[in-house]
Amino acid sequence: MKTAIIGGGAAGFFCAINLAEMMPKADITIFERQARPLRKVEISGGGRCNCTNTFEGVTDLQHVYPRGARLMGRFFRQFSPQDAYRWFESHGVPLTVQPDQCVFPAAQDSHAIIDCFMRETRRHGIHIMTSTPIGEPSSLLPDFDNIVVTTGGQPKMGVPSLFTFRIDDTALQACMGIVVPDVIASIPGTKMRATGPLLITHWGMSGPVILRLSSYAARHLAEHNYTAPLAINWTGVTDTEVVRKDVEDTLLQNKSRQLVNLKLYNLQSHLWHYLLGKLGLTERRASEVGSKQLNRLINLLTNDTYTISGRSPYRDEFVTCGGIPLTEIEPTTLESRATPHIYYAGEVLDIDGITGGFNFQAAWTTAYVVAQAISSQQTKP
Ligand SMILES: Cc1cc2nc3c(=O)[nH]c(=O)nc-3n(C[C@H](O)[C@H](O)[C@H](O)COP(=O)(O)OP(=O)(O)OC[C@H]3O[C@@H](n4cnc5c(N)ncnc54)[C@H](O)[C@@H]3O)c2cc1C
Repeated sequence: MKTAIIGGGAAGFFCAINLAEMMPKADITIFERQARPLRKVEISGGGRCNCTNTFEGVTDLQHVYPRGARLMGRFFRQFSPQDAYRWFESHGVPLTVQPDQCVFPAAQDSHAIIDCFMRETRRHGIHIMTSTPIGEPSSLLPDFDNIVVTTGGQPKMGVPSLFTFRIDDTALQACMGIVVPDVIASIPGTKMRATGPLLITHWGMSGPVILRLSSYAARHLAEHNYTAPLAINWTGVTDTEVVRKDVEDTLLQNKSRQLVNLKLYNLQSHLWHYLLGKLGLTERRASEVGSKQLNRLINLLTNDTYTISGRSPYRDEFVTCGGIPLTEIEPTTLESRATPHIYYAGEVLDIDGITGGFNFQAAWTTAYVVAQAISSQQTKP
């Protein structure tokens, strides 16, 4: 049985190798439009490739897969993150888990995965045709029994996800480089909110909390031309009464001190100075804060509003939100409903995750599901 795989990226290679393992006699060809395959794997995770996540602490897949969570939940029964972990280790790629649950090759080098994939494709006699772009997948159907489309994110079919926010505020930008470890960021007027570390940059805001929020709000922000309000809770505490008590206690214990010299929620002094400046309180002492100013201070700490004025000037989009609609494919096999024998896996599907190894996990899982669908098709009587 002949299988063509269009796209020599993470999903394409993983599908090819697993299909070869399931069907040792399969004739498999990967078509890659670029001169070298696996380019994204190579540059991913800063060259270290955050290849999966333990999913420890993930209580709802919707939080890590804003699009495609239900399908991923079902597919994990077939090929879970733990299966991926075991797969790599049993194929000669020892892995390591970071404290944030992100999984990387122990070698801290994406080439560990590329070398594994190249070794396995050679071992199974999988053909790799580089510099060979394929136009219409069905054009290959006369020569192949099955086509797997793994062409990755298609910007024309979706919108970017995982980007940082431009915020035109020179005083904020002067705080660049400051990381606030525990922030809640949200888009007022929507239910979109994310938590995590925030990094102030010279163009606005970045860091895991912003990338996560950009993923949740990818379509909303695209529809609003990347202009939207943004609320930051610098304390990471959701209950404003708790914040009120913390602030009141700090003010009481430090009555004679200048506000700028106080330490609240471990906010770095430059940032604290900037925040106080927004309220015109930089010259005040703690004892000079009246009840009105206290309310404004609490509101600033928990609901500090900004205007997102665009995406960052850099091309830091990691994934595309959008792709082949899940309604157009069989939900158990990922086969096209319109054209049998054409399958889809990886980022070409309308499935995408937040940062942390979730996108590669989607590629491994969907590629495995397709390999299994094709191999079981063969074993049918
Ligand atoms: C800078 C960067 C860093 C990232 N880091 C991480 C990370 O650490 N962890 C994580 O989980 N995710 C990360 N991602 C996301 C991750 O790389 C993708 O989700 C993943 O590569 C998707 O795999 P894929 O095989 O579906 O697509 P791709 O890896 O994009 O592969 C698609 C392949 O298809 C080829 N192709 C496209 N069209 C055709 C055609 N018509 N004919 C033939 N070939 C074609 C492309 O050239 C490409 O080689 C990162 C992304 C970027 C951009």
